[in-house]
Amino acid sequence: MVDPVRRAFVCGHPIAHSRSPIIHSYWLDRYGIAGSYAAIDVAPERFPLFLSGLSEAGLAGGNITIPHKEAAFAAVARRDAAAEAIGAVNTVWFEDGQLHGGNTDAYGFAANLDERAPGWERGRSAVVVGAGGAARAVIHALTERSIGDIRVANRTAGRAAELAARFGARVSAHAMGALPEICADADLLINTTSLGMAGDMGLSADPAWLPGHAIVTDLVYVPLRTPLLAAAAARGLKTVDGLGMLLHQAVPGFERWFGRRPDVTQALRDRIVADLDGKT
Ligand code: NAP
Repeated sequence: MVDPVRRAFVCGHPIAHSRSPIIHSYWLDRYGIAGSYAAIDVAPERFPLFLSGLSEAGLAGGNITIPHKEAAFAAVARRDAAAEAIGAVNTVWFEDGQLHGGNTDAYGFAANLDERAPGWERGRSAVVVGAGGAARAVIHALTERSIGDIRVANRTAGRAAELAARFGARVSAHAMGALPEICADADLLINTTSLGMAGDMGLSADPAWLPGHAIVTDLVYVPLRTPLLAAAAARGLKTVDGLGMLLHQAVPGFERWFGRRPDVTQALRDRIVADLDGKT
């Protein structure tokens, strides 16, 4: 007999901090779906075996997070266009008996701005601070929305240069010291570094460098109001926190595994904020 309960997961190492189980369990309850979503800690050396055993273990698919996103990219049978562009897979599912991999971070980033700063994509230039995995997803989203001038600044100059080479002529690489100059006419500033997480001083970027119409967004969401967002709001700039990206990136996976496209609502956001408040 076929098990009617669909089972999905988030897999990382470590994984205890992940809020994905709260998000997906919330939607399963909300829509009365007989399913489950669990966090699974898998060490890198066990990851290939874990992935090849999904079907046998009765898992419909799941999310892949640090440090397995590149290994998943290499292992899946088929990839979507976003995963190809970004070079990492954060969502896997079965289709026609094969394991497919996608990347929903770029979708989540754009959907968060669509919700919180409608019209953002009319901007011509964006400054992306950071050149890690999250920056690749952000740059893909910006190119998909036809932002014509994307300036990447990073502590390690070579990584910014790699992204400029990967994404083509619209993307330029800069040193962190160039931020005052490249922010001067920017429509959007995005922090994709881990700076600003609870306890650190945050990104040393001054929102006063930006024009008054600029939008500032931060991928860090613990705390929700990072030092960068607080400074930008104090200057009167439009700010968007990173929690919405986390919520929206979860939508396509839930739909694939459980068959219903879920809504990102204020009630879901409140649920996660309550969890963050309890732990910070
Ligand atoms: P990553 O690949 O490790 O990249 C980290 C980036 O931060 C690099 O550009 C690194 O610069 C920079 N950095 C780290 N410490 C720094 C320091 N002390 N000074 C200057 N730059 C520093 O990480 P990632 O996967 O891109 O993730 C970055 C952040 O985005 C994390 O906080 C993550 O939680 C967050 N994120 C949020 C969402 C969301 O849904 N809101 C989604 C994805 C990621 P170097 O290259 O010089 O090392």
